[in-house]
Amino acid sequence: MKTNLLGFPRIGGNRELKKASEKYWKDQITANELIQVGDDLRKENWLLQQSAGIDLIPSNDFSFYDQVLDASLTFGCVPSRFHGVKSSKTDLELYFAMARGIQKDGFDITAMEMTKWFDTNYHYIVPEFTKDQSFELLSVKAVDEFKQALALGITTKPVLISPVTYLYLGKEKEEGFHRIELLDKLLPVFFELLEQLALAGAEYIQVDEPCLALDLGDRERKAIVRLYAQLEERFPKLKIILTNYFDCYGENLETALQLPVHALHLDLIRCPLQLDDILDSPGFTRKQILSLGVVDGRNIWKNNYEASLKLIKKAAQNLGTDKLWVGSSCSLLHSPYDLELENKEDNLPSEVKQWMAFAKQKLAELVDLKVLASGSYTEEIGKKLDLNQRVFLSRKSSTTMHHLPTQERVNKLALEDSSRNAAFSDRRVAQQMELQLPLFPTTTIGSFPQTNEVRKWRAQYKKGAISQGTYDELLKKETEETIRFQEEIGLDVLVHGEFERNDMVEYFGEKLHGFAFSSNGWVQSYGSRCVKPPIIYGDVFRDNPMTVKWTSYAQSLTPIPVKGMLTGPVTILQWSFVRNDQPRSLTCKQIALAIRDEVVDLESAGIKVIQIDEPAIREGLPLRKEYWKAYLDWAVESFRISASGVADKTQIHTHMCYSEFNDIIDSIAALDADVITIETSRSEMELLDAFVNFKYPNEIGPGVYDIHSARVPNEEEMEILINKAASLLPKENIWVNPDCGLKTRDWPETKSALINLVKVAKKLRKEALVATA
Ligand code: GLN
Ligand code: ZN
Repeated sequence: MKTNLLGFPRIGGNRELKKASEKYWKDQITANELIQVGDDLRKENWLLQQSAGIDLIPSNDFSFYDQVLDASLTFGCVPSRFHGVKSSKTDLELYFAMARGIQKDGFDITAMEMTKWFDTNYHYIVPEFTKDQSFELLSVKAVDEFKQALALGITTKPVLISPVTYLYLGKEKEEGFHRIELLDKLLPVFFELLEQLALAGAEYIQVDEPCLALDLGDRERKAIVRLYAQLEERFPKLKIILTNYFDCYGENLETALQLPVHALHLDLIRCPLQLDDILDSPGFTRKQILSLGVVDGRNIWKNNYEASLKLIKKAAQNLGTDKLWVGSSCSLLHSPYDLELENKEDNLPSEVKQWMAFAKQKLAELVDLKVLASGSYTEEIGKKLDLNQRVFLSRKSSTTMHHLPTQERVNKLALEDSSRNAAFSDRRVAQQMELQLPLFPTTTIGSFPQTNEVRKWRAQYKKGAISQGTYDELLKKETEETIRFQEEIGLDVLVHGEFERNDMVEYFGEKLHGFAFSSNGWVQSYGSRCVKPPIIYGDVFRDNPMTVKWTSYAQSLTPIPVKGMLTGPVTILQWSFVRNDQPRSLTCKQIALAIRDEVVDLESAGIKVIQIDEPAIREGLPLRKEYWKAYLDWAVESFRISASGVADKTQIHTHMCYSEFNDIIDSIAALDADVITIETSRSEMELLDAFVNFKYPNEIGPGVYDIHSARVPNEEEMEILINKAASLLPKENIWVNPDCGLKTRDWPETKSALINLVKVAKKLRKEALVATA
């Protein structure tokens, strides 16, 4: 039996890679200095894995930006707009130009597109293909890194993205072909790379084929069969590990089982039941080794040895231990680096910390499981098993973690808890009486510019350098100025500006029970950007209002309605590490009840409009369509629980961004928010199509100002966008607002843009009145 590690975080225990890359981009260090940081990180990781006792140690899991971009360079797939850069600059400069765009030395080229890596919060650089795409072996990074490890005495297992998954994840940049058809051109380059790896002494190759976790068509499945047949023919000595993760093989199982590979990797965290499917399948010849991914690469909880051993033993009885490996479920890229760096009791109590494991700790878990499964019982491993069982018992009986009233409240949820009293058409009348809003009402999405000054105040307050009183005074002043500005330019529904918030999830997590925070639990999101998700370890509940103070302060300054601003339950769940001892749906409903309490408190404090942001609803969709309904059912229910505690006359808004709505529009409608604001300006209202075709009944604010750009939109362009929306939807349903929060923008551009926005709304309002008169 071997331990099989699929990949390790590359950002460094103290985010060394992030810091070095950003310095390099600012010309503060040289390319060689950056390369040295990469060399050191890889060396440190390999030695760590070796001393932990990992058998199959990965290489080429390192990347200066992204592993899919690495593959594009390996295969020489460089979009033509970068060819000038390719011929005149260094490889590293070309690489970062593709990732980030380049705007110097006479170049002005946009970056390649970036999108989410399956259902993770990691983003990859999307390969671009043309009809006559050619490939060449442009970079031999995988070979170089293999040799580097070899020089340390470590024979690694190179990790390569399969050419099929690589093509599948890319995009055609012109019509008239399907990207999978490029496989025959790509294979010779892939084989050339394998030849070099074999020559350098590689024995095992991890071929990442995660597209097997998706609903594939025949075209892709046939391509996969062709790839592995040719691999077997050309490289009979290489031991190929077919590596799928993030879900089971599903419909692709029969295809996968017939592939002539040395080993088959299973993500048993996402899909423990697939082990039975495989063991029972007549298609399983028992020739392949099964790599059992039992250590969770996507979460931060300790492995439950007893539960993992159960799975391993089941497989062992069927196959024998020599046909089994223990592995991480996926690459540990998605786990933070080292739990031992955490020592702030206030943020992460030791009771909670003892339940957790980061990447470094997961190495030891893999080795423990191998020893335990092979039955070589020593006193030492006996103690470890004991300790592990005790940890899980302590979690079961913990009073910090479990809160009975919350559990009861969720159990008692009834149908009416997720329904407003009246239907939208009646609520609308009540709200109009209350709010008296004009046609094309104007509003913003919540946050106003978080200047360096505001950030500095918060940092000082957190360090204890300024008192609560001083901090509050500063924020009050900022909030008042923001209210006055909004009044002055004539917005119809105001916001307080969110100056007291660091992050839209962390802010609520810090005020709710059941959350903990790491100090250093960073996970790569894209390039040098890392996120530090909150940790939901226990039952979630709220005992004090979280936002009422700031919202009602803002409302006290003005007779115009101020909109309360909350983050929705699905988004809070989605952007956190979530406890794994109960279904996510249950945790989500607990959060929903806490948000509901807040909504009700805001209403009691006189707030008439309340927005519950759900930008992450869409990204929570399971990879396979067959699981969509179950997810959408509880996600919609959770939102509705949070929104349904108020009177009909209270107007509930929601906001979503980065979303394609076509395939989930019925669920968006089922949220039954009175108003939804969405990001549409960059797609020139294309995203509205879903709402139009569906005849979306409630009110909607399609963003007319792209807040991701520093450009100030002029009146004409916003007018075109609103008119377009008004030609598609009933004009009484349309709100006028930016695409998203203004937190990342500067004041001067924000002011100019919003002044233009209000002017356009007023002009169109007048025109509509004249037209009906
Ligand atoms: N209310 C939040 C803000 O304005 C919404 C952010 C988001 O949609 N991501 O910043
Ligand atoms: Zn947004």
